[in-house]
Amino acid sequence: MREKDIYARARKTMVETQLIPRGIKDRRVISAMLKVPRHLFVDEALRAQAYSDYPLPIGEGQTISQPFMVAFMTEALKLEGTEKVLEIGTGSGYQTAILAELAEMVYSVERIPSIADRARKTLDSLGYSNIAIRIGDGTLGWEEFAPFDAILVTAGAPDIPPPYMEQLAEGGRLVIPVGGEFVQELVRLTKKKERIVRENLGGCRFVKLIGRYGWQED
Ligand code: SAH
Repeated sequence: MREKDIYARARKTMVETQLIPRGIKDRRVISAMLKVPRHLFVDEALRAQAYSDYPLPIGEGQTISQPFMVAFMTEALKLEGTEKVLEIGTGSGYQTAILAELAEMVYSVERIPSIADRARKTLDSLGYSNIAIRIGDGTLGWEEFAPFDAILVTAGAPDIPPPYMEQLAEGGRLVIPVGGEFVQELVRLTKKKERIVRENLGGCRFVKLIGRYGWQED
C-alpha cells in the first residue's frame, strides 16, 4: 500500500474509534479530520504515532493536541463556512488547518517564533491560502482583524483575557481552557445581545497560555 493510503486509513480508524464513539457528530468536522494529514505536522520520527489517541511533543516544551480534543473544540465553535476565526497558539498548525477547512479565514497567533515558522511552512506546503499567522502575545488577541465570529484558544489560561470578549462579534463563540497550571475546564462563552452565556464543556489539560493576560513566563 502507498504511504499516502496508509495514512488515510489511519485517519479513518482515528475517526471511527476516537471521535465518533465519543460523540463527535458535525459532518464537516468529521470530513476535515479525515482530510488533513496530521502526520505532516509532527517530526518524522513521530509520524507513525500521529493518529494515536494522545498529544505529541512538537518542540520547545509544546504539544500538538490529542485528535479528539481538536475535533471537540472545533465542533464547539459551530462553524458553518463563512466565519472569520481567531486562533491563539498556532503550535504545529494542525488545528489551524482544521479551522481553515471549516471557516472562511483563520488568523492565528503564536508566541514562539521557531514554532510559528515551522507551522507556516507546513501550511504553505499544503496550499492553504486562508490562514494568516502572526508572532506575538496572543492574550491581546489580534485587534486589527476584529471582530471575530469564533475564537479558539489552545493553551490554558488562569482567567479569560479581556481582549477576547471585546474582539468577539455579536453571536460569536469563544472556546478556551481556563483553570490551573496543570488542569483546566474547557469553557465556551457566547456573546448574545448585551449578555454572555457561559458553558462548561469538561475537563482538559493544556500547556500554559503565557502573556500579559495569561501566565507569567517561568
Ligand atoms: N493547536 C496547537 C496547540 C499547540 S500547544 C496544536 O495542536 O499543535 C499551545 C501553543 O500555544 C504553543 O505553541 C505555545 O507556544 C502557544 N502559546 C502559549 N502562550 C501563547 C500566547 N500568549 N500567544 C500565542 N501563543 C501562545
